[in-house]
This record gives sequence, structure tokens and C-alpha cells, in this order.
Amino acid sequence: MNTLENYSLSKKVFCAECQSSMWKMSYALAHGRYNYLCCRMVKISENKCCNTSSIRLDYLENTMLAEINKLLDSYYNADLITIEKQPQEKSRKEELQSEMQELISQIDRGQQHLIKVYEDKLNEVISEEQFSVMNKKFQAEIANLKKRLEFIKSQLQTAEFSQQKDIDRTEVLNKYKQITEINKLIVDEFIKSVSVGAVKTDGTREINIKWAL
Ligand SMILES: [Zn+2]
Repeated sequence: MNTLENYSLSKKVFCAECQSSMWKMSYALAHGRYNYLCCRMVKISENKCCNTSSIRLDYLENTMLAEINKLLDSYYNADLITIEKQPQEKSRKEELQSEMQELISQIDRGQQHLIKVYEDKLNEVISEEQFSVMNKKFQAEIANLKKRLEFIKSQLQTAEFSQQKDIDRTEVLNKYKQITEINKLIVDEFIKSVSVGAVKTDGTREINIKWAL
């Protein structure tokens, strides 16, 4: 018997009746040795706790494994909801892209106007003064459009960045879609504590999990 051994559920399991921690011990049976957990109070003093039956550790671990997978199933369903966010982000990206295209063609048109005004001045269709006013007006318009274009470009970069983040999150969810084996790492990530109740008259006992997330 080694109660200090760092098994997957160590320091996580408590007696639901007296809140004592549960000790790990092993019994040799005809067909092998099995680990069990038992209320510490039951071990150290008689008649202080009614939770006198031990519970097989592998049974408890399998129950935790099943419960974590049930929790992951609900996460997986929650993930389906977050997928709905993606088209929204995409359409935002598309909005920005179409505004960028529109700005580029507006800047192009502005530059055409500048050339036209300059030609008009050369051909003396407009006066030096008229040219100066129109030239200033188009230059200012183009400067504003370019400023807006820079802003849109930076927005697009951020949008692409956040989409990258979404992919990472999906990868993490996929990593934990189903757990086939329980270990200390998984337990620490998912479970805060487990309480095991006394065996009832109908032979059942209550096991409650406090989730760490
Ligand atoms: Zn107890």
C-alpha cells in the first residue's frame, strides 16, 4: 500500500459523507491485485463515518473518463454554434475587401481627374487659378481616400489574424474531442474534485464531480 503514489485521481477524491479525503489501498483478490479508495475517517476511527465501503479505483477512473467524454460531447455541440460565427467574420472580411477595391478605383478616378485638369490647364481650357483650386480639391480627395485605404488594409490584416486564432481554438477542441485514457494531466485539466457517497440500501452510491472548467 502506498498512499503517496501519484495516481490520476490523487488528492481529488473526497468522502461525500464526512468530507475526508479518500485513501488509496490495494486488495489482493484471487485473480489479481486491485486498487481501492476508502474514506480516511473510516480508516482512522471507527463509527465516525458511515461510508465504510471502498470503491474500486479503476471503476472510478472509468466513470470519470465517461463523464469527461460526455462533457466534451457538449463542448463539441457548443463548437457547432461557434462555427456560425465564421460566415459572419467572412462577410466582414468580404465587406472590407470590396471597400478596398472601391477605394482603389476611386483613387484611380481621382488621379485621372488630376491628369484631365492638368491637360485642361495646358490647353488653356481653364485658368491657372481654376487649375489651382481643382488640383487642390482632387489632391485632398485622393489623400483622404488613401488614408481610408490604409485603415481598411490594417483592418483586413487584423481580421485575417483573428480567423487564424479560430483555427487554433478548433484544433484544441479537436485534440480533446474524445479521451480514451485517463491520466493526471487530463484529470487536473477537467476535474476539481470528486465526492463518493456511502453505499445506499439499494446498492447504489452517489458520485459527484466538481468540474475544474
Ligand atoms: Zn467519510
